[in-house]
Amino acid sequence: MITLRGKGVSSGIAFGKLVFLDRGGYVAQKNAISDVTGELQRLHAARKQAGEQLNALALDMQTKLGEEHAMLFEVHRMMLEDSDFVDPIMKIIETELLCAEYAVVTASARLAQEFVDMEDEYMSARAIDVRDVANRIVAVLSGTQQDVTAGTTPIILASDDFTPSETAQFNRDKVLALVSQAGAANSHTAIFARTMGIPAIIGFGASLSAGLAGKEAALDGETGTLHIEPAEDIIATLTEKKKRLAGEQVLLEKFRGKETVTRDGRKLKLYANIGSVADVDAARSGDAEGIGLFRSEFLYLGRDDFPDENIQYESYKNVVEKMGDKLVIIRTLDIGADKQADYFHLPHEENPALGMRAIRICLTRPPLFKTQLRAIYRASAHGNVAIMFPMINAAEELRRAKNIAGEVRAELSVEKVSFNPNVPIGIMIETPASVIISDLLAEEADFFSIGTNDLTQYTLAVDRQNETLSEFCDTHHEAIIRMIRLTCKNAHKAGIWCGICGMLGADATLTKTFVDIGIDELSVEPSCILKLRSNIAEM
Ligand code: PEP
Ligand code: MG
Repeated sequence: MITLRGKGVSSGIAFGKLVFLDRGGYVAQKNAISDVTGELQRLHAARKQAGEQLNALALDMQTKLGEEHAMLFEVHRMMLEDSDFVDPIMKIIETELLCAEYAVVTASARLAQEFVDMEDEYMSARAIDVRDVANRIVAVLSGTQQDVTAGTTPIILASDDFTPSETAQFNRDKVLALVSQAGAANSHTAIFARTMGIPAIIGFGASLSAGLAGKEAALDGETGTLHIEPAEDIIATLTEKKKRLAGEQVLLEKFRGKETVTRDGRKLKLYANIGSVADVDAARSGDAEGIGLFRSEFLYLGRDDFPDENIQYESYKNVVEKMGDKLVIIRTLDIGADKQADYFHLPHEENPALGMRAIRICLTRPPLFKTQLRAIYRASAHGNVAIMFPMINAAEELRRAKNIAGEVRAELSVEKVSFNPNVPIGIMIETPASVIISDLLAEEADFFSIGTNDLTQYTLAVDRQNETLSEFCDTHHEAIIRMIRLTCKNAHKAGIWCGICGMLGADATLTKTFVDIGIDELSVEPSCILKLRSNIAEM
């Protein structure tokens, strides 16, 4: 057994096989074999597993995007059975006595080249399918995972780091836990893991090496320990802890469906942060009183092109309908900085966190912004929606954004499209500038939600993505607490509510402080809600 230690960023216990995310950098070794029958069996088992992955992907695509998109995976599945593809691989194993990984890579490279050499443009482009199918088989053989959407058995997914767009595509039923070499506690990978209730440990450094691929592992997201090929006593201890945690969860059930209220009767709202439609189930089972932050930019990540108005409308409508009459606060596009999508063609920036991101992109690309706002307003006809603008720094920015929202409402009215014309428009307080002028902003916003992740980054001048700065990132810094107090005071003076949707909102050691400051709402990962409600009931 080997025990590795990292930084636990999402608690929970998981047991499973460690699979490394492969982004195409795999190099097959030319290993000699002596057991031909055994090697052929490995190959056929891998083909079978790849076929199951493709079936699952086809089904998923069919549901999400329709038959046409599912066809590609069907073609790939047929290739797995095709003798032109399979026979040359078997021949290398049988006659050259070389391992299956090498045989797949070599034979498929030859076949792909034959396609490339064809005159017909369509046929020549099929080389990519050959490579894709070969990569999938090799990924299964080598214990790496070719893409984050594939996989038929639940696994512990490992990588050097995960990008937000990768996390946006995870097949959440199949990822038991996330472990990475790098990563910062405030990163979106950590946030995603907590939202999904998936245990996660980051910052293992080089000790989390690809040599561990395919090994059984057990981890504890609270203590940040990962055991490779765990001993019996470790499995027993962690199984016991898993049971205890489940037991504590059962005790919290008495708070389900209740209001969040302090001993002296002060009521707060406990909302959930979500990144996609798929997270709504977690929000509901966590007993969220609403959605306090729908990170809509995740709809834009992990794609090749902009999601059009209808794709967005369907997603927002889905969330809104699933939440019934509960409030759903949709934050408009917060792309840029660590959340990159190539098709935005954002310029290279020295300091992307201080660059073209969030509302700045929306204000400089009104058509893009309008498409999203149209989708949100249309969804407002189906439930209780609010709009929230990220990274607002000045009253003028808020006015410009609200004017564009006004244009959208006017267009929808002319088109006789139904929507709620009175959708509240709030803003995130994420920069020191917005805190200092929160009295002015409060006159023009319907609510405030404090984004403590960015507020901490910009106040303490600590890049939230830089894990080497963690000792300088004091999230409890007095400056942050004072900023929260000032923002809340100015909100109340103007008669609007003030919440917190950054990670600090879920920090149980600060709940009393927030209650005393007068915070009206906390928007947190769904799994924290019942625990917070029970804590608040004691205050
Ligand atoms: C924040 O900055 O606190 C926040 C909630 O937004 P995000 O983490 O998505 O930047
Ligand atoms: Mg933010």
